[in-house]
Amino acid sequence: MANVNFNELPNNAFDAIVIGSGISGGWAAKELCEQGLKTLLLERGKDVVHIKDYPTATMNPWDFPHRGRLPLQIKESNPIAERCYAFSEASEHFFVKDAEHPYVQDKPFDWIRGYQVGGKSLLWARQTQRWSKFDFEGPARDGFAVDWPIRYEDIAPWYSHVEHFVGISGNHDGLETLPDGEFLPAWTMNVVEKEIQKRIMSNYSDRNVIIGRCAHLTQPKEIHLQQGRGQCQARSLCERGCPFGGYFSSNSSTIPWASKTGKLTLRPDSIVHSIIYDESKQRAIGVRVIDAHTNKAVEYFSKIIFVNASTLNTNLILLNSTSKRFPDGLGNDHGLLGKYIAFHNYRGSITASFDGPMDKYYYGRRPTAVMMPNFRNLYKQETDFLRGYMVFYTATRAAWGHNTDGPTVGAGFKEAISEPGQWNVFMMMQGETIPKVNNMVQLSSNLKDKWGIPLLRISVGYDDNDVRLLKDFLIQGAEMLDKAGCKNIITADSGQNPGLDIHEIGGVRMGKDPKTSMLNKWNQLHTCKNVYVTDGACMTSTGTQNPSLTFMALTARAANHAAAALQRDEI
Ligand SMILES: Cc1cc2nc3c(=O)[nH]c(=O)nc-3n(C[C@H](O)[C@H](O)[C@H](O)COP(=O)(O)OP(=O)(O)OC[C@H]3O[C@@H](n4cnc5c(N)ncnc54)[C@H](O)[C@@H]3O)c2cc1C
Repeated sequence: MANVNFNELPNNAFDAIVIGSGISGGWAAKELCEQGLKTLLLERGKDVVHIKDYPTATMNPWDFPHRGRLPLQIKESNPIAERCYAFSEASEHFFVKDAEHPYVQDKPFDWIRGYQVGGKSLLWARQTQRWSKFDFEGPARDGFAVDWPIRYEDIAPWYSHVEHFVGISGNHDGLETLPDGEFLPAWTMNVVEKEIQKRIMSNYSDRNVIIGRCAHLTQPKEIHLQQGRGQCQARSLCERGCPFGGYFSSNSSTIPWASKTGKLTLRPDSIVHSIIYDESKQRAIGVRVIDAHTNKAVEYFSKIIFVNASTLNTNLILLNSTSKRFPDGLGNDHGLLGKYIAFHNYRGSITASFDGPMDKYYYGRRPTAVMMPNFRNLYKQETDFLRGYMVFYTATRAAWGHNTDGPTVGAGFKEAISEPGQWNVFMMMQGETIPKVNNMVQLSSNLKDKWGIPLLRISVGYDDNDVRLLKDFLIQGAEMLDKAGCKNIITADSGQNPGLDIHEIGGVRMGKDPKTSMLNKWNQLHTCKNVYVTDGACMTSTGTQNPSLTFMALTARAANHAAAALQRDEI
């Protein structure tokens, strides 16, 4: 790389470098700083300071030039980002714009990204469920991917560690399929959701219906007040950044906490180009960084490196980290790097109506839904597809004034618009997909971004298993709603592209055997142990749960392992 300023070396040395300041990188920084390590947190995007940099957080609809909706020109120039439900006039500044960060789609893939301090932690929908034993045992039992090198018991204490700090609301439901955690008080179901719950559970002995668990402070504890966070106000304006700190983001929680230790250096606008491998020391010694604005190249050095750039960017950085020892990317002796990507199948949804009580309503904008943990293929293989899906549903009342079929002026109309409409039900799936060798990412051999970094080529698609699983959800979901007394049941396959789920995982998978995996059970590269990968790239399979809680728990576990190993001089 040109322009490397070696004179900067003394100031550029740290105990630990963390690449990426999103959900997982924030956790790496927090844990490493708390363990007393001088830590450099590198972030390619701009700084976003909690509260100060949430420009739309308290704006009313009428304060926006387009009342919160995006002008056609922005939609047309961002066909990928625009497909994400959260991309609006109020939040677009936290989304990557299509033209600014291109990638190559060998198959259609909607890569939704947030390049800023905090990453997608500002944008996420905050649904958080633990994995169960069924998920960690899945690949070994069903013969796909490779066996996970850890089991539920290995990660359970780290789930507790993370939940305590983040603040997760939920009930203790006592389910084997969805283990309980350290919960704040749960959100509640409304009257129709409860009725549907009752009828589904009385019709199906193998199915459970619970209120969703999410990273919102329903009743802050001392640890949350110490972070400067307060109670969730149920505004449902979360993607703008929450001035109350009502939901968990790196910006409101882990980064300021790490900063308070005095051990953190946060460097925004710093694009990590690659990891530097020292042939003589046989270890990684630092990272090459390009300043996003000046294009100046700088190198930073450290004893350990955490790669948390989010699944596909982590793959990109490792693929781009070539050396004599690793000509095909760091740790990639077997060509596995970038392969076995998986995601969540969100294609199926169902709408229906319900003759619910017209004198009942609900309070606030609840930030979670009713959910059903996976009930397919749990104890044995029983369908024509592998694995299963989680189900979410909500019951809401149609828009105020929906009941008007008379004149649209006058006293009668005014009367009508003071009443909410009928009860509607919406149900959706979150299906597991099987990681496959041909669902992969690689570097473009000829196209580069404006900083000279090769573009990522993404080749990820659905398979027959995904289609069979989708069909099953549509049949089962419609049947459940029918048995629950719903009417006008309509099923739909959105056919949405992989990627729009924003739950992509894999490419740097964990495993027991260095010949068939990239990372060991502590998330260290088998062949370069001072490099840890703890974002979604490390995942061996995807489960049916929302993934970020597991990324956080794996990160906290690995960071504490790294700090202890450093102290014992073992890496
Ligand atoms: C609308 C939406 C809804 C979602 N809902 C949920 C949900 O309900 N539950 C759930 O579990 N998950 C949800 N997710 C997914 C969740 O946001 C991600 O799983 C999570 O943010 C991943 O954490 P991460 O640290 O891997 O990546 P990110 O949070 O994306 O952070 C990665 C960071 O790395 C930086 N970076 C990338 N490349 C480089 C580089 N070369 N150099 C330096 N920095 C770099 C990025 O700028 C970014 O800040 C949702 C996401 C979105 C957008």
